[in-house]
Amino acid sequence: MADRDTDILLIGGGIASAMAAATLRAEGFEGSILLAGRELDPPYHRPPASKGYLRGHESKDDALVHPSGWWDEQGVELLTRTSVMALDTAARTAKLSTKEEVGYGQALLATGAMVRRLSVDGAQLDGIHYLRALGNADTIRGDVDGAERVVCVGGSYIGSEVAASLTELGKRVTIVMQEAEPLERQFGARAGAYFRSVLEGHGIEIVSADEIARFESASGATEGDGERVARVVTAGGRTIEAGAVVCGVGAQPDVMLARRAGLALGDLGGVRCDSRLRTSAEQVFAAGDICEYESVVHGRVVRIEHEEVAAAQGATAARNMLGADAPHDVVPYFFSDLSDWASLEYVGPAAAWDEEVVRGDVDGGAFAIWYLEGGRVRAMLSVGGAGDVDRANALIASGAAVGAAGVPS
Ligand SMILES: Cc1cc2nc3c(=O)[nH]c(=O)nc-3n(C[C@H](O)[C@H](O)[C@H](O)COP(=O)(O)OP(=O)(O)OC[C@H]3O[C@@H](n4cnc5c(N)ncnc54)[C@H](O)[C@@H]3O)c2cc1C
Repeated sequence: MADRDTDILLIGGGIASAMAAATLRAEGFEGSILLAGRELDPPYHRPPASKGYLRGHESKDDALVHPSGWWDEQGVELLTRTSVMALDTAARTAKLSTKEEVGYGQALLATGAMVRRLSVDGAQLDGIHYLRALGNADTIRGDVDGAERVVCVGGSYIGSEVAASLTELGKRVTIVMQEAEPLERQFGARAGAYFRSVLEGHGIEIVSADEIARFESASGATEGDGERVARVVTAGGRTIEAGAVVCGVGAQPDVMLARRAGLALGDLGGVRCDSRLRTSAEQVFAAGDICEYESVVHGRVVRIEHEEVAAAQGATAARNMLGADAPHDVVPYFFSDLSDWASLEYVGPAAAWDEEVVRGDVDGGAFAIWYLEGGRVRAMLSVGGAGDVDRANALIASGAAVGAAGVPS
């Protein structure tokens, strides 16, 4: 027998749960809603953690998904610092870290992702950081204060964004990455060359097609109490001075609770869902970074780690809890900023493409790249606001073979 009941239980305190709560109330749901999140803070937007918040331009309040009074006003019970430890999907009960057992009518699983960690020698030295939460950004900002040179590991979003932000804070930054060009894995070599030119143009050194072999302290140690990183040594044989290191080497969906609860997991590492975002368990939905769903837009199973996608999936799951029975058909959208040097938006994602159609002024930093496969638009990258995102959404969703001639000029 549960200690108490809630109509809807939202598990995880990120954007997906926060948007599910807002959608439930906006759709007129008057039943009880309980959100349990592990972190100290109410749900907040993570993107500022590598951008404005890291640079000190945005506060924690600016980053909140809903202002602090919103939860009480909306009658949504918010439990921060509270993990869901176990889920019994047959009995429809959840055990909380507070020892309370809560019965639920429907549940949303939105436990997000965790950073992937490097496992090279020296990885435990002081001064080596990972970034997922605003608290990590606080630690990094404090720690780099005394460091003149910082190494960012990884050429994807986090590595590139943090490199830009720390350069703005007056640090000399080196990016060490496996790729030939930054952001190349997402957007291809042509776009990657542009982003390299932006980063290098602001003084960032890029060490590409290489990777970390080990971290060393000033005395050459790779372990030991109080030993702090002083340099990185790459597999290619370079030694780079590093007063601090920030690693952005990917994330992995946090499916620990889902696995323990016996939910079906997918090949992409997430919780397997149908097109309605229903998991394999009755009345349990999933959304956000853990959600691996049958996409009616792409005609394949996808899992995407982007803020707007998590928000939109939270909303779809909420509507389906209320009986909408609608597939999640929003074209995934992503944005990123390299300080105020470059801004990008991307819709897609393209699993593969055989043609890139460039429109606009690449040297001037206002251009779009359209990614086509067999003449069909699969994705579009807009830099400096130059691409028509709505048109790209429509072309991606239609799946029509328009060829390069059908791409907006
Ligand atoms: C530094 C950074 C910058 C980013 N920048 C961008 C960007 O510019 N653009 C973009 O589109 N995306 C960006 N992202 C990605 C985006 O933030 C994520 O896709 C989004 O946060 C996913 O939301 P979510 O709700 O699925 O999960 P999360 O935000 O990860 O939230 C899940 C929460 O659930 C908690 N939790 C886990 N297990 C339990 C449990 N058992 N019980 C209770 N709580 C639990 C976790 O602690 C976490 O607080 C960025 C991410 C990071 C880290």
